[in-house]
Amino acid sequence: MDMIFCPLYSGSSGNALFVQAGQTRVLIDAGKPGKTVDEALRLIGVEPQSLDAILITHEHSDHISGAGVLCRKYRIPVYATPDTWLAMDKKVGAIPDGLRRTFDKKQDFYLGQLGVVPFAIPHDAADPVGYRLWCGSVSIATATDLGHFSKGVKEAVSGASLVLLESNHDPDMLMANPHYSSHLKQRILSNRGHLSNDACANALVQLVESGVHHVILGHLSGENNLPELALQTSEDRAEEAGIRLGHDLSLDLAWRDRVGGVYTLKEGA
Ligand SMILES: [Zn+2]
Ligand SMILES: [Zn+2]
Repeated sequence: MDMIFCPLYSGSSGNALFVQAGQTRVLIDAGKPGKTVDEALRLIGVEPQSLDAILITHEHSDHISGAGVLCRKYRIPVYATPDTWLAMDKKVGAIPDGLRRTFDKKQDFYLGQLGVVPFAIPHDAADPVGYRLWCGSVSIATATDLGHFSKGVKEAVSGASLVLLESNHDPDMLMANPHYSSHLKQRILSNRGHLSNDACANALVQLVESGVHHVILGHLSGENNLPELALQTSEDRAEEAGIRLGHDLSLDLAWRDRVGGVYTLKEGA
């Protein structure tokens, strides 16, 4: 069965990813105001009330700020690990009992026609996870909010049909940014912070070696990166490694402030 993927928004100012397999529709994160996510879904022809779940990666506001509103308004179940619930309870507001769902990040589970495989990620949150969502032989994986491209993350996403990979910042732009405290800079640069353009480019080569042919760069910083710079860094590194763009790898970018492309991934393609 085909899978459909759309990064509604991806970046340090808010993340919401749409995934569909058959009749099953989910969001990974809802980190823009509820109304904004609502409008983005309608723009791609999806009624928000048709969503089966919102899967939360971690409690930072750029991943949860619209989750409570959407859950209450459309009665959409919200899934997070017990520790992430503890960390985000106050931020998302009251969640009706039946809509508050937990899972064990070491165990896979099913949501309708989607197989959900959570995995731990190295990030400075209570219990952060990435997701690989499966339908038949097709799978879509998130690899954002990573202080480093760890062995665990690499194993979890290798060979996926499509990976959303973090290309968060240019370290020089970050260090020169007068609006960020040195504490915040250190947090972003730490091995539980965010993936730089360079680290992303290195991860990209490893992903292609593992059999990934479609990568979307995402979770760009608004102040410490430029879309052209993120793309150029990854394209240059891929070419150095002998990867032919457009043949071995299709490389795209997800936008911070407008709805991204709608990708259809075909079984057996
Ligand atoms: Zn985060
Ligand atoms: Zn984030």
